[in-house]
Amino acid sequence: MKPLNELSREGAGGYRLPKLEVPPQPQLPQSYLRAELKLPQLTEHDVIREFMGRSHANTSVDGSPLFPLGSCTMIYTPIAARKAPELFAQLHPLQPAQTAQGALKLMHDLERILSEMGGAAAGSLQPAAGAHSELTAMFMIAAYHKSKGEDKQRRVVLIPDSAHGTNPASAAMAGYAVETVPSDKRGRLDYARLEEVLREKGESVAAFMITQPSTYGIYDEKINDITALLHRHGAQVFCDGANFAALTNRVKFGDLGVDVFHFNLHKTFGVPHGGGGPGAGFVGAAEHLVPFLPVPRVEERNGRFELSHDHPQSIGTLSSAYGNFLADVMAYAYIQLLGSEGFREASGVAVLTGNYMHRMLSEVLPPAFPGLVMHEGIVLDTPLRKLSLKVMDLVKGIIDLGYYAPTVSFPLGNGILTEPTHSASRGAIDGFAQDVAEIVKHAEQDPLWLAASPHNTPARRFEEAKANRNPVFIWRWH
Ligand SMILES: *Cc1c(COP(=O)(O)O)cnc(C)c1O
Repeated sequence: MKPLNELSREGAGGYRLPKLEVPPQPQLPQSYLRAELKLPQLTEHDVIREFMGRSHANTSVDGSPLFPLGSCTMIYTPIAARKAPELFAQLHPLQPAQTAQGALKLMHDLERILSEMGGAAAGSLQPAAGAHSELTAMFMIAAYHKSKGEDKQRRVVLIPDSAHGTNPASAAMAGYAVETVPSDKRGRLDYARLEEVLREKGESVAAFMITQPSTYGIYDEKINDITALLHRHGAQVFCDGANFAALTNRVKFGDLGVDVFHFNLHKTFGVPHGGGGPGAGFVGAAEHLVPFLPVPRVEERNGRFELSHDHPQSIGTLSSAYGNFLADVMAYAYIQLLGSEGFREASGVAVLTGNYMHRMLSEVLPPAFPGLVMHEGIVLDTPLRKLSLKVMDLVKGIIDLGYYAPTVSFPLGNGILTEPTHSASRGAIDGFAQDVAEIVKHAEQDPLWLAASPHNTPARRFEEAKANRNPVFIWRWH
């Protein structure tokens, strides 16, 4: 790509402003104005080529053969679902409900469908992401305990060590103390330890946050015992449903004794994500937690839809515009495209591809736990450690071949978590497993080659911590 300053030509431009239809406003104060604005002068075509070029320098959902990002469920979004939000592009969140009946009906129907899929009495689309949904659920649980006069005593949230980092963060943000429950050697929750903790301090526990299947890719068969045990001690159970792609139209969280759960529409329900969003969450609640759901709630009265604030026990409002509505539209379109049978097939195929990929990778890298997995699995970087290489070096080699990187160092520091999803073809999985095997073989002969990868990307290795702490967002033309 030629740098912009070389493309710049005096007088080139790509826009023409319409004639003013309102009185001109006074200029900004002189102190805000720069004497010289050194912007490149480019035609519209130059600018488009610049941004297209940059987009191709990145991996993308349409350009990468596989998106094996474990726990994140990177489903291919059909074009029809991507186009659906355009139908609603003219809506404004503050326009009167009687002029937005179609949008409200869509939200109402989507909440009903998602409640049905998860086994909830009702739910809310207000949270903007998974973590935001967890926080919503924690607030709801706190309000529930308060309604029973137990909020002062129940100050602890128990979380398995396999949980996503957002779980403890959400509990802490809601003001709870977090206590970790370990997993056993098979990757299941250490049930005996949970019993022990509850015997010791059951009456101080507000909630248990479980992920089913867990981010180890394992379905905990003891789930009904776990939820019953917590209920005996007066605690509530939240289920992190980010891994629901493994269960659609097969398992309902409500049937497992879960009190409140979330779905990530940008994972299980086809809304594209990556690069930070926009996401969309859904919180589903059992009957006794419904009064605490966020307001406004979309309600149907005499065939008309309205936004109701008439819920005195509600935790209040969490999003300024009822959530990421256009993402909800995409999820709705995706649900209509798949249909009920499609979701059953999707979870079946997700588990099949998950196991197939896990088995293929296990030929080269040892699996973290024995046996079958659900939709995702973890393999360890043990053979690379012997060469003084780490899991991070391996993924740099994977990125070098045009793949989106799988999840590394979570939930196990020396592990790679891969999730092919139901949209991966067998050919893509075979190709990926072969490529990983070849990278490992090449590294055994030449460890420095892998340590220096990626070799083919426009940028090499970043100082990730520094990029996080001191991000530079301003582009300057020198
Ligand atoms: C992605 C994920 C979350 C958080 O969801 P966000 O939308 O990224 O906030 C929580 N738990 C698990 C298991 C996840 O995979």
